[in-house]
Amino acid sequence: MTERLKPTCPNCDSTRLKPVTFKETFTPRGQQVVVTLLGMKCQACGHEAGTWDQHDENLKRLAARKAAYGGLLMGEEIVALRQRYGLTQQAAAKIFGKGKIAFSRYENEASYPDDGTTLMLQAAIEMPVFIKWLADRAGVELPLWKQRTKDDAAARGALRAASPVEAAPPRAFKNSASRAKPRGKTAHAAG
Ligand SMILES: [Zn+2]
Repeated sequence: MTERLKPTCPNCDSTRLKPVTFKETFTPRGQQVVVTLLGMKCQACGHEAGTWDQHDENLKRLAARKAAYGGLLMGEEIVALRQRYGLTQQAAAKIFGKGKIAFSRYENEASYPDDGTTLMLQAAIEMPVFIKWLADRAGVELPLWKQRTKDDAAARGALRAASPVEAAPPRAFKNSASRAKPRGKTAHAAG
């Protein structure tokens, strides 16, 4: 029974796995930030991997490093923003007025965006309409914009359904329903 619960090496199926740690170093604003990550090393074949628990713990440790970033964004936050809208690194660079390799460097934390760019990225993360505005201005299409807009609407709908306190009283519901009438019909009735 316990034998089955023992993690095995994905490479050679050995159960001779030894916990190891490794360090990742980041340098936001020139300051060294070292994160110790957990993993397993196979004593049979040398393969390095980790358990799901270690993976979760590593994600927590990586997220916690942001406290030392002085307002800068972590590489994975920039990746998440870019991928959320289905952008390539080059398309993202065009939207934010940066050079072709800028996003590759930001995402690997080989360098960090300046404070003005950080502010724009932060605004784009918090306000979807802002990245849409920037993209339109740069003439760049956001491939997943429609999908994301649908997701957000669905999320708001689910939130309303889940919290009865937020439910609108009958009168307000009636008002919003009449407001939702197609524009053309209203114009016809008025004229
Ligand atoms: Zn192995």
